[in-house]
Amino acid sequence: MSRTVKRAFKYRFYPTDAQAAQLSRTFGCVRLVYNMALQARTEAWTQRQERIDYNVTSALLTAWKKTDDLAFLSEVSSVPLQQALRHLQTAYTNFWAKRAKHPTFKSKKRSRRSAEYTTSAFRWRDDTLTLAKMTEPLDVVWSRPLPDGASPSTVTVSCDAAGRWFVSLLCDDVIAQTPATGRVGIDAGLDSVLALSTGEKITNPRHESADRQRLARAQQNLARKQKGSANRAKARVTLARIHARIADRRRDHLHKLTTRLVRENQAIVIEDLAVRNMVKNHRLARAISDAAWRQLRTMLEYKAAWHGRDLVVVDRWFPSTRLCSACGALAQKMPLSVREWTCPCGAVHDRDVNAARNILAAGLAVTACGDGVRPQRESSRTGRSSVKQENLRATKGIPVL
Ligand SMILES: [Zn+2]
Repeated sequence: MSRTVKRAFKYRFYPTDAQAAQLSRTFGCVRLVYNMALQARTEAWTQRQERIDYNVTSALLTAWKKTDDLAFLSEVSSVPLQQALRHLQTAYTNFWAKRAKHPTFKSKKRSRRSAEYTTSAFRWRDDTLTLAKMTEPLDVVWSRPLPDGASPSTVTVSCDAAGRWFVSLLCDDVIAQTPATGRVGIDAGLDSVLALSTGEKITNPRHESADRQRLARAQQNLARKQKGSANRAKARVTLARIHARIADRRRDHLHKLTTRLVRENQAIVIEDLAVRNMVKNHRLARAISDAAWRQLRTMLEYKAAWHGRDLVVVDRWFPSTRLCSACGALAQKMPLSVREWTCPCGAVHDRDVNAARNILAAGLAVTACGDGVRPQRESSRTGRSSVKQENLRATKGIPVL
């Protein structure tokens, strides 16, 4: 059995000076159009209680291009500008559906610089990619092959804070569906990054702590530089490079881990981040950051969808650390220093692994028989459900590999 999915393939490329200039101008125009459309939509609502949609902003864009002040918008490909309006429409749809906050203005310094091209705005021939308004193809480093016969439907060009250029190609890919028998619960541990119900503990990738030290030094270095100076600009790029490297390594590590988990297991159970934050004890910092945890969950979501696995997200209202995963007895409250404990039933528990086992049990209970019997829940008192299965949206957030 196999499944066809949309998958993004991301590569570095090296633009010529002319291409870099053209793309930088395009990024600027994309940001401007997005911000002006956002302004128009906000004004229409606050002044006239009027909701204006994509079509109206598209007509506005045509009008803007005809004015003297904004005639330069015609110098770049019109497709990325239209796509910016579509992205804004999506942002509003998510806002109205209460899935996201109100869209905010894109900032020149902080926002991601990117432009999205659809098929009418690029040429894909003999494995070369040429964007609209350009004569030469992009010099792409094809670090991994595209699927056989793949033809991209969308191309996204971006430049990160470290000055690296990337192109991401959205293609159809065929994923083989192979059965797996494993089941695993995952806990965000205190000692290790993650604890698995199998007893395995996942630690941070090598180099992580050395990179953190380098990051701290670069931050101090930047703080010492005079505002507006050339040295400050240089220090900022150095800092951005270190950030980029840490992010790359983390993503790489999480990709390997999630691919393995999805390959080996039919059911994967994780706890909900929102709940994790609500029950968060401020004295303890989880070894995994919220950002990394969110990234891990996103990867598990789409990879589980690709491979036909069940990803169960549980609300953790039960005291998973103190609950014996062998007999279900509830232990006394224990201080954070207790990393290992013994239940009266004789089971010896690693604190984090025990929590992962309870998370697995909670997840399996919900898939097997609705809201399950074990583990014991505090929810009978609070009236909250201990477990919920979230609808997995395979389409949500086209992943980048
Ligand atoms: Zn026990």
